[in-house]
Amino acid sequence: MVNAETGTAEIGVIGGSGFYSFLEDVTEVTVDTPYGAPSDSLFLGELAGRRVAFLPRHGRGHHLPPHRINYRANLWALRSVGVRQVLGPCAVGGLRPEYGPGTLLVPDQMVDRTKARTQTFYDGVPRADGAESNVVHLGFSDPYCPEGRKAALAAARGRDWEPVDGGTLVVVEGPRFSTRAESRWHAAMGWSVVGMTGHPEAVLARELELCYTTLTLVTDLDAGAEAGEGVNHTEVLEVFAANVDRLRTVLFDAVAALPANEDRACVCHHALDGIDTGIELP
Ligand SMILES: [Zn+2]
Repeated sequence: MVNAETGTAEIGVIGGSGFYSFLEDVTEVTVDTPYGAPSDSLFLGELAGRRVAFLPRHGRGHHLPPHRINYRANLWALRSVGVRQVLGPCAVGGLRPEYGPGTLLVPDQMVDRTKARTQTFYDGVPRADGAESNVVHLGFSDPYCPEGRKAALAAARGRDWEPVDGGTLVVVEGPRFSTRAESRWHAAMGWSVVGMTGHPEAVLARELELCYTTLTLVTDLDAGAEAGEGVNHTEVLEVFAANVDRLRTVLFDAVAALPANEDRACVCHHALDGIDTGIELP
């Protein structure tokens, strides 16, 4: 249900404040959800004629570590203002020497190595408002929206930033970085990049029939792929800052290239076909 008072949007971007802070006419909207409060307000603005809702994943001032983000509230809040397609850029470590800092990789697979995150809306646990979902098991073979991936890859190429097309994002609990042994293991499994926020964001989006695409920016070589001191947070922030402008440009081009919500030809918005979840989506 889209509420005139809270504003509307069609596309959501979950990322840092660097992605919207310079836009003109951004409206800040506070949204509450049956799952609690999202990481921050939604910031609604217009971009290439598309109505976009920006959500700072870690909250303003980056006060929420990956394991304390209320992912359910974030996705629910976006859907409740009308969002049906989500782009979720994130910083990652490269697991192969050739995926050094500045690499843009658009994964097509994901491995969950998180430990303590609620990863479903449909667990049969009564909510505070009394609604109780059924237990639902969704297919998730291909975790990312094929249309969104296409838009992201084309956007990067259009800006002469040749992206890595496909690969596996392994998501760890954090907030610490991996040990060398963990990192070598991730690499030996053939996985491409490692991050802390990609799960459960992707699966919760699918559970709400939202298209979800992640663009990963490599900020460092993970511990097992480099010979030096290992990852530290300062260098991650430095590489991110050096790339945030062009990542924003690519994101905005991708937003412009996404299909209209009603024209989506992907599987994402049929994820719940024939399934009775027991709860009504906003
Ligand atoms: Zn889709």
